[in-house]
Amino acid sequence: MSLKVQTTCPYCGVGCGVIATIDDAGSVSVKGDPTHPSNFSRLCSKGAALADTIGMDGRVLYPEVDGVEYSWEHALGYTARKFNSIIDEHGANAVAFYVSGQLLTEDYYVANKLMKGFIGTANIDTNSRLCMSSAVAAYKRAFGSDTVPCSYEDLERAKLIVLTGSNTAWCHPVLYQRIVKAKKLNPDLMVVVIDPRQTASCDVADQHLAIQSGTDHILFKGLLNYLVQQDEVNHLFVSQFTEGLDACLDDAKHSAASIGVVAVECGLSARDVERFYKLFSRTERVVTVFSQGINQWSYGTDNGNAIINCHLVTGRIGRPGMGPFSFTGQPNAMGGREVGGLANQLAAHMDIENSKHRQLVKKFWNAPRIPEKAGLKAVDLFKAVHNGEIKALWIMATNPAVSLPNSNFVREALEKCKFVVVSDCMRNTDTTRYANVLFPAQTWGERDGTVTNSERRISRQRAFLPTPGQARPDWWIISKVAQKMGFTEAFDYDHPVDVFKEHAALSGYKNNSSRDFDISGYATMDDTGYETMQPLQWPVTQEKPEGSSRMFTDGQFFTPSKKAQFINVKNHQPVAETSGAYPLILNTGRVRDQWHTMTRTGKSARLSGHIQESFIALHSDDAKKYNIHKDSLVQVSNDNGQIIVRANISDSQQPGYVFIPMHWNDQFSGNSVVGKLIDNIVDPISGQPEFKHTAVSIKEKLPAWYGFILSRRKLIISHASYWSVSRGRGLWCYEVAGDEAAGDWANCARQLLCQNANNVEWVEYFDSAQGRYRGARIENGHLESCIFIGPDQDLPERDWLAQLISKASLEDDERISILTGKPLSGQHDVGRIICSCFSVGVNTLMDAIKQQHLTTVDAIGTALKAGTNCGSCVPELKRLINKDL
Ligand code: SF4
Repeated sequence: MSLKVQTTCPYCGVGCGVIATIDDAGSVSVKGDPTHPSNFSRLCSKGAALADTIGMDGRVLYPEVDGVEYSWEHALGYTARKFNSIIDEHGANAVAFYVSGQLLTEDYYVANKLMKGFIGTANIDTNSRLCMSSAVAAYKRAFGSDTVPCSYEDLERAKLIVLTGSNTAWCHPVLYQRIVKAKKLNPDLMVVVIDPRQTASCDVADQHLAIQSGTDHILFKGLLNYLVQQDEVNHLFVSQFTEGLDACLDDAKHSAASIGVVAVECGLSARDVERFYKLFSRTERVVTVFSQGINQWSYGTDNGNAIINCHLVTGRIGRPGMGPFSFTGQPNAMGGREVGGLANQLAAHMDIENSKHRQLVKKFWNAPRIPEKAGLKAVDLFKAVHNGEIKALWIMATNPAVSLPNSNFVREALEKCKFVVVSDCMRNTDTTRYANVLFPAQTWGERDGTVTNSERRISRQRAFLPTPGQARPDWWIISKVAQKMGFTEAFDYDHPVDVFKEHAALSGYKNNSSRDFDISGYATMDDTGYETMQPLQWPVTQEKPEGSSRMFTDGQFFTPSKKAQFINVKNHQPVAETSGAYPLILNTGRVRDQWHTMTRTGKSARLSGHIQESFIALHSDDAKKYNIHKDSLVQVSNDNGQIIVRANISDSQQPGYVFIPMHWNDQFSGNSVVGKLIDNIVDPISGQPEFKHTAVSIKEKLPAWYGFILSRRKLIISHASYWSVSRGRGLWCYEVAGDEAAGDWANCARQLLCQNANNVEWVEYFDSAQGRYRGARIENGHLESCIFIGPDQDLPERDWLAQLISKASLEDDERISILTGKPLSGQHDVGRIICSCFSVGVNTLMDAIKQQHLTTVDAIGTALKAGTNCGSCVPELKRLINKDL
């Protein structure tokens, strides 16, 4: 009998419901949960491939101290003693936790409680700082609380959706699909995309404003001005429920005085600006979606408030189909906010600076101490690690050596830190290499708890797999260390439901509607209630047991006056400037089929097939100007460091601006961590780094040789100045290049592919005149690995060789084809995967489009099934039809 479990996708902040099925043989399959109100059965390519990522490959299974396996008793006791001795000697501020929006709420709650209530410092911050802390700060300034006012259903009820700083199609694909469907059902729904890049999200746009990077706040300031000038003000709402409009307009009237001024500042035509302003002003039901493209600036908080101001002046908040809507990046960024996972928050949306809140939390926790001031935010926290102020650091479920800005500096800090603890499910990440203590944490499928998505919906993540080795839940690991530090009673939890109920009770403790976050309706739930809990949007109270789909419906906010605040936003410039040395501006972000630092999605062949290597997207004018050729290797540099990535020449970029994805790390590439280039520049209010604007230079790299290796085993690459690896079906695919030709290719190749191997057959071909080498390891009749080297990129296609590797045994002519470097006739290279669900490659698609005269996505779907499942590839299919790729 198969087992079906309702759980939640562990990737983005959409928080899609998933049904995991385990059959009698133990195989896992996943599909979207039709009853989950966030996705109604849809999954994107990442969610649909979740089953591919389950496996023991690369897991850490036992506690380790200095690289040696130990018992839990020893590792927990050792960690507790080290933390206590550092606190005794240097004080509580000498220790810190760096946690993650990947943690479940229960884990997050316990970590925050230990740090803020018992160790007594607020030095706990989270990687959510990097993705949405500016949105938090903007909401708090405007509403007095970190409240996302909207629901996903508002996307369907809106008449105008503005996507600004959000490539929703790739970063929140299921919400994008909801928008696409809403537009299909209601052709009057208008969509405006505001983005310097021509992203996949533009596919649904009625208007794309290719704004000058970093000027979104000016566009919205100008909109505020325009709305007032046109008397599109909701006077009743403004007078009854808001404060500060006049002061706010003072600046806007001058610095964004007219459509013409805004157009010049934003690099747009006045006609386009006017069209957008008219559309916004005449449409009552407007949802403005914003995400990292708004948040990741040194003035990200002001960006958020510039948007919120426009919704306040029109009173477009708290009603169906409208509101300023921050989409969060991570699956539990919102849960982290709820428990106080950011260094400037307390718990349950309470404030550290508020003495009443401190007393309340101290009493509730029966805590010995509560810090009176905010702790160090992520970038400052790692600076304090670097300068020795912080001597013990516990990193949970995140990879700061890749994801933080200036990653060379972060790595130095970790190297210098006296005591580093890492809790992770993976053994080898760029961060675990610095761990003195490594705790094996459970991962998705094993973990049990709750997460909150971007629309305040709390859902259960449920376990459906046995926990391997000695891995444990994060809440358990933290609680055990806390108990060994001497805080026995306060951390005496047996089950995540104990933690969740305490969290729920704290949210309602002396609340009386004074705080937005209240889930006291869950405080008395029993174990069965937790097990069967269905997704609900907070607040969830005795009065509102079914939750609340929308906030501020009564115009009451959480400021002292109960009125929402207009925030005066000044004009800003990004900090980094271009120069002769660094003439281009680098933007970073996500790609469609990878998640964060690829520890999970990098395991999936179908996800890796979409984009196999890191890349730099640049406009063809810049390619010409800097002499960069298609698919060449490019060295990208600035004073912080240099990386090497593949050229992707695309006019979806604006000239002068380049884009590199955030995902690649040292496990998947030799030197492509884009964080190495990013400056330590942050928003002074939110502490969020300016990931969207870094000055760099580019130079084409001309290696002496190029090559690729396909191997059933993971390899350690040497002799190459560039390498990148991606997962194929049953194999690893390496792209390599080197500056110095090997003296003896045969020896090098055999050392790499045949070391310590007995009874293997090695076949090879070397054309010394042309510098071309091919070698293959054949073992028990099957192709185990092969290597192809040449002086240029004129190398054989990879797919037919990958197909040979998957065969149980090789025919004679297939052996010959390896050495000639030519596929047998009839074998076809499918090319880069466009449709991950059905593994349909670009070559297959282009052939079908040409030969069968396919002119619509539906026609492609009928012919090849591509685009008929999750829909994530539809914008790319349309571009292929338009021959735009
Ligand atoms: S949109 Fe995709 S990645 Fe995000 S939660 Fe849903 S299935 Fe997961």
